Amino acid sequence: MKISLFLNDYFVNYNKKPLTSNQQLDRNIIQKLYNEDDLFILRGEPTLRPDFNQVLDIFKDKKNYILTTHLEDVSKIINYPRSIPYISMNWDGVMNDNIRGRKPFTSDLIYLLTSLKSADTIQRLSYTMSQYNLPFIDVDALFIKKLLTIFPKMKQPYFNIYQKGYYYNNEQFTWPAISRENLKTLNEQGVLTQKNFEYLLRWITKEDYQCTSIQNEITIMPDATVRLCQSHRIVESLGSLKEKTLQEILNENSENLKKAENCPLREQCWFGNHKDNIYGTK
Ligand code: SF4
Repeated sequence: MKISLFLNDYFVNYNKKPLTSNQQLDRNIIQKLYNEDDLFILRGEPTLRPDFNQVLDIFKDKKNYILTTHLEDVSKIINYPRSIPYISMNWDGVMNDNIRGRKPFTSDLIYLLTSLKSADTIQRLSYTMSQYNLPFIDVDALFIKKLLTIFPKMKQPYFNIYQKGYYYNNEQFTWPAISRENLKTLNEQGVLTQKNFEYLLRWITKEDYQCTSIQNEITIMPDATVRLCQSHRIVESLGSLKEKTLQEILNENSENLKKAENCPLREQCWFGNHKDNIYGTK
């Protein structure tokens, strides 16, 4: 099972301050969840935790956890004394530094990649396409192509689609106007994998699909509630790990999980249209 663990109540919010609270997932709960067979994806800007090292140490014997970062505090990652198997770096383009309040994300990204040059860590960019960075997609594609040359250990990036969802602010989500021309631009620079291309194309052609995200994925929030998915239905709590084990919660909700394959929100949702794990090998 793939478990998205939101370690902090933190979401990026464009043009505004990030949504933050002091709520952090209890380290004892993380420790109890630890299971060799699961893939853990550490989300919610893990570097914001004061106990960052101790949280990562829980997974020290695991070879397949993924650390995601919005590049808020790369020095914590660089100074972590153990090797990290996989780092997914959320970098949303050269203009994003200004949009997010003149933050040095691009230079921090280069700093982090440079520090990982001799490490075995799998490195991948996650780029969220939005109405803010889409006008500069050609500049960003060229920049990413250069990064791939300078840092040959980096995998090709994964391009996601930005949406506003209930968890952010309840406003109507906004689809970026992604076009075939945008895909052509990315393809010409050689920065789009086949799987990523198919995912974005399915959004453009609006093909119907069955939600795959709930088949073997689950989301756990900082308040220890288990959620159906990371998209619109993230508001639905299936139960709390403060009261039950993950397995008990999953067993109790097996019918709901099955029904979600035909989730009525899937036309408005980007997340359930991933054919499989975006952290696959291609
Ligand atoms: S279609 Fe989207 S909102 Fe519905 S269950 Fe799947 S991921 Fe969640």
